[in-house]
Amino acid sequence: TSTLLWLRRDLRLSNHPALCAALERGGPVIPVFIRDGAVDGLGAAAKWRLGLSLDHLAQRLGERGSRLILRHGDALDVLRALVRETGAGAVRWSRLYDSEAIERDKAVKAALSEDGIDAQSHAGHLLFEPWTVETQQGEHYKVFTPMWRAVKDCDVAAPLSAPSDLPRPADWPKSDALEDWRLGAAMERGAQVCLPHQRVGEDAAQERLEWFTTDAIDRYLTTRDKPPFDGTSGLSENLTLGEISPAQCWRAGMRALHEGAKGAEQWLKELVWREFAYHLLYHTPRIATRNWREKWDAFPWKDDERAAEIKAWKQGRTGVPFVDAAMREMYVTGKMHNRGRMIVASYLTKHLMTHWRVGQEWFAEHLTDWDPASNALGWQWAAGSGPDAAPFFRIFNPETQLGKFDPEGRYVRAWIAEGQDDPSETALAYFDAIPRRWNMAPTDVYPDPVVGLKEGRERALAAYEARAF
Ligand code: FAD
Repeated sequence: TSTLLWLRRDLRLSNHPALCAALERGGPVIPVFIRDGAVDGLGAAAKWRLGLSLDHLAQRLGERGSRLILRHGDALDVLRALVRETGAGAVRWSRLYDSEAIERDKAVKAALSEDGIDAQSHAGHLLFEPWTVETQQGEHYKVFTPMWRAVKDCDVAAPLSAPSDLPRPADWPKSDALEDWRLGAAMERGAQVCLPHQRVGEDAAQERLEWFTTDAIDRYLTTRDKPPFDGTSGLSENLTLGEISPAQCWRAGMRALHEGAKGAEQWLKELVWREFAYHLLYHTPRIATRNWREKWDAFPWKDDERAAEIKAWKQGRTGVPFVDAAMREMYVTGKMHNRGRMIVASYLTKHLMTHWRVGQEWFAEHLTDWDPASNALGWQWAAGSGPDAAPFFRIFNPETQLGKFDPEGRYVRAWIAEGQDDPSETALAYFDAIPRRWNMAPTDVYPDPVVGLKEGRERALAAYEARAF
């Protein structure tokens, strides 16, 4: 009988254990993507980027004599309908680790099994599934470095190459048309501005991995923290959608390490930060929505979205160049350099004393590499409320940071047009990307800081000390 391959965040064909398991059954394989509540709940940019990925995957499947079947509705209802229509005897999928997905998948597995369908999930989205690594006390990790030490020498399974052809059913079930899903509809900003900055699909991700681990990883230690340089892998958008597997990244990083590349160990560490984020999301799901350290519930976070300071932060108009450059980079490219993410997050939660949830949600709406685990951990890390977090009293000074990481002002010139005689293309692109109602123009006068850096810092420290944190 046929096997339904239920795809979610595993939009690739190589190094795909669930696909291999489907092929091993021997019958036709029917790849399916379901637009359920989880997809509808994505932020605008992530949903748009997902559409690009699905389009790409459908083409790749087409080249292998297969198809991508698109359906919408409740996942279980859709899978049951497809089982009825195709006579499929099995369903395979790759596991996810956020609480909503776990709950849904458990219910799907139980119900399908009751129907007599062979329903199985597989690893593939992570290097180390959250229950496979634990401290010597048998607990989950709450600090990064011991987890890193525990896994750093691990070998992970060899990448399996993409099958050259997928056995097809005699008749294909009906599919929705991707255009009808209008996954880009909520992109308030100009999608055309954002498009050239996306690296879509498996081939592009693999090429980039090859380039990065061969030509760039040796310099990673010196360039990774400098936003004006293309010094990092840029693979986050591919990893979050599963266009490339973390196992393939790990093995390429390991190869570079064994060849003596200086930045390789640091890069492998970053891959483990992603694992750490999922480890925490699985073991302490509250990290996605509530202060991981509960004492922070008593902190006087601000969260009035209409407040002028918060609006200025969102629009890249705080008057603090590093913060504004990074926020605009996200608007135009859908991504933001990690140094930028740390600085805008520190500035929002500390200088502006705004709840990290405001920033987390804004990122979720605007990042094309949005990831439920890394975004939550990143925000709680920056705010000081998370596990292994930067302590609250360590407040980044965006000016000192600029001097250190962008001493020639290249990043700022790349993203801020106001005040420049001959603004760069990227800085101007920002004004094509933003909604009209923001009413901004490149000829505007660059704003004064919404809060003095010293004043903001002192205000945050006073609030922190008043609560004897
Ligand atoms: P590289 O430096 O090449 O690293 C390789 C891979 O390791 C990345 O692709 C990513 O998968 C992983 N990685 C690197 N740094 C981290 C980290 N600090 N935490 C977890 N994983 C990491 N990353 C996302 O993928 N999606 C998000 O929504 C996201 N939100 C963030 C929010 C905040 C406030 C902060 C501080 C960080 C956030 N990050 C997020 C983590 C990090 O900024 C990005 O993963 C990184 O900038 C991606 O660039 P890259 O692919 O070139 O990374």
